[in-house]
Amino acid sequence: MHLGGKTHRVKADVAIIGGGTAGLNTAMAAAECGASVLIVDKAHIQRSGAIAGGIDHFMAFMETGESWDTREAYLAYVGKVARGAANLRIHEKVLCDELPAAMARIEKMGISLRQEDGSYLRTQALGQPGPYSINFNGQRLKPAMALEVKRRKCRVLNRVQVTKLCLHEGEMAGFCGYDMRNGDFYEIQAKATVIATGNTNRMFKSQTGNPFNLWYCPANTGDLHRAAFDAGVELANVEYVRMTIVPKGFSAPGFNAFFGMGGKLVNGLGVPFMTDYHPQGDAAPRNVMVWAALTETKAGRGPIYVDVRHLSASDLAHLFSTLGIDKDTLPEFLMAKGYAREGAMIELTVSEPMQARPSEQCGSGIKIDEACASNVPGLFAAGDASDQMGCLHMCVAGGFYAGKQAAKYARARNRLLPLKAKELRQERLRVFAPMQRQNGLAPGEFENVVRIITTDHFGPIKNETSLKAGIAKLDALNSYRDELAAGDLHTLMRCHEAVNIHAVAKIVAETSLARTESRFSPYHHRSDFPESSDDWCGLVVARREGDNGVATRFETLLYDA
Ligand SMILES: Cc1cc2nc3c(=O)[nH]c(=O)nc-3n(C[C@H](O)[C@H](O)[C@H](O)COP(=O)(O)OP(=O)(O)OC[C@H]3O[C@@H](n4cnc5c(N)ncnc54)[C@H](O)[C@@H]3O)c2cc1C
Repeated sequence: MHLGGKTHRVKADVAIIGGGTAGLNTAMAAAECGASVLIVDKAHIQRSGAIAGGIDHFMAFMETGESWDTREAYLAYVGKVARGAANLRIHEKVLCDELPAAMARIEKMGISLRQEDGSYLRTQALGQPGPYSINFNGQRLKPAMALEVKRRKCRVLNRVQVTKLCLHEGEMAGFCGYDMRNGDFYEIQAKATVIATGNTNRMFKSQTGNPFNLWYCPANTGDLHRAAFDAGVELANVEYVRMTIVPKGFSAPGFNAFFGMGGKLVNGLGVPFMTDYHPQGDAAPRNVMVWAALTETKAGRGPIYVDVRHLSASDLAHLFSTLGIDKDTLPEFLMAKGYAREGAMIELTVSEPMQARPSEQCGSGIKIDEACASNVPGLFAAGDASDQMGCLHMCVAGGFYAGKQAAKYARARNRLLPLKAKELRQERLRVFAPMQRQNGLAPGEFENVVRIITTDHFGPIKNETSLKAGIAKLDALNSYRDELAAGDLHTLMRCHEAVNIHAVAKIVAETSLARTESRFSPYHHRSDFPESSDDWCGLVVARREGDNGVATRFETLLYDA
């Protein structure tokens, strides 16, 4: 029987939940503004989150004199590829104003965005009008950021899973969580709190059958999307179900590397097909590539491959020597499968879906304004966890911007708000309840059922009937949440993750139901409303209603063209 260990009470001006790319940049900024900073992460910040294993592309406009390489051209691109999901006013603040400083900060940390000869290698993909993606070696970027927040004297709590946000008279007062190694309970008070916990994974069946073998970080399970939603925080862009194209049998990225270097998607007949789907062919936006791959396969022309045989010897050498930057073992895997370094048709497949942004130029999750603030005073969001940031460029630049805003808020508030003792007691009981049960449901079993429901009903194609039936099935699982059992603290974490994945899945389904059009197909493809409509150019905003309800409203987004 475990009711948790010691209680620790910690105070900070700015507390950041999630020490991934965005969270660490938030911390750097808040510390630079003079705030006392606390970072709380479920893993270890040295190697946690999406870029734990490394990263290889940084998107930027660089004002080189080319017409596509200006701030204005970049914003026009964002307005085109993320239309209806990206708020350009916020984009200007979190990316454009911060970009040069963000790139300089990375270099100052000892990670070069350049090639050995000092030049930038820029490639074009994802619907870009010019080569915006800087190819670099970011294998050591995460440890470098972790070192930098230590240097700036930020306090860090590793391996603490945050489970609840605490409000005082409608304002953010703090949050609590537990240490996954010793069961100690943490009660944290902060003048400003920033959520930077990434997106929600493990929500759909994976291509390999192993729920942890995913494109994105399997430890990001929507914990704070659920906790924030329960606390009355608004979410946006959550109806989108993001996917990519990955090597068959190895859920790794490689999309940007393959297609940025000039790889071609070909079908099982050996025929390139992307120009049939988009004027930019293999440089089309990611959702179009996924849609085309699904369509070719459905038409019986699968499997799909990336053909790199036409690349020059030096481009091929570069491709194969850098493919392992964000997933160490990918080159080895490809070699073991028998693909020759001289170039090959590498079999690809469509990845598992996940709750995440519909474009590289926005996010999906906590709805933020131009100061990265949510609708709850004192609560901010950054990175993939927010509805307006995602990808490396925005998480570094926008994370830093969010830290400045949170520090400013903390300075103005200038006092800590109290946490309620009764609420904390109740949360401690809830958190450790699975450890009181001798016999119960294993979290993996519960999670598997959630994945079957989501995949069958909205993974990714959906319609009113499939969504309503899916929601009814997810609701029917509610009572089983109280039967989850854990014999150790690691399984306890899995219990909470399973409950959070289930909760976010329901919000995804409800918001999908609200948007009666299709946008970024297949990320939101309604077979009963297969076309996009200008009436839906904006955000579906979700908020908790009653005990188990999801209320939605629509907020229009305006674009010049
Ligand atoms: C393999 C891979 C390759 C990629 N390649 C590129 C690329 O080349 N270019 C590009 O622009 N983008 C790329 N991306 C996307 C980019 O890496 C992400 O958008 C970005 O790093 C997300 O940063 P984040 O801080 O929002 O989330 P993350 O870095 O994922 O951080 C989330 C953090 O929250 C913590 N956390 C989660 N739940 C809790 C909880 N309950 N309590 C406490 N802590 C919690 C996690 O442990 C984690 O540290 C890639 C992504 C992946 C997965």
